[in-house]
Amino acid sequence: MLIKKTEAKSLYTGRLTHGADLLNELTQICEQNSITFGRVEAIGAVKKAKIGYYNTDTFKYEYHELDQALEILNLTGNISLKDGKPMVHAHVTLADNQSRAFGGHLCPETIVFACEYVIEQFEGEPFSRGYDKETGLPLWPAE
Ligand code: ZN
Repeated sequence: MLIKKTEAKSLYTGRLTHGADLLNELTQICEQNSITFGRVEAIGAVKKAKIGYYNTDTFKYEYHELDQALEILNLTGNISLKDGKPMVHAHVTLADNQSRAFGGHLCPETIVFACEYVIEQFEGEPFSRGYDKETGLPLWPAE
């Protein structure tokens, strides 16, 4: 088990660019502001989405492309280092025009219609992701 006590250092909030790639723009904000450890949340809407589901039998992501306007009911994620650079790991819940929800691991190619975000930067040394044999995923250290 990995436990680290930390504190909030700074909060960043704002609005993403209409037509931007949601995950890439969040990552860019982290890179430009040297945010390597923290968490992110956002609400808004997207023009289309790509979400992943990690198949724990095959150790592979399965992708779903949702080519429609969707509401971002929730985006929750964390920020840590992968290969020395900030990586945003986020999951989203999205709703269609019938209030049906879809969800999964946020992938590039999800395009912003409107999005308001909050990023909380944590104090201290960030976690660094490394390959985890047991899951096949780039995870935080085990301890
Ligand atoms: Zn994920």
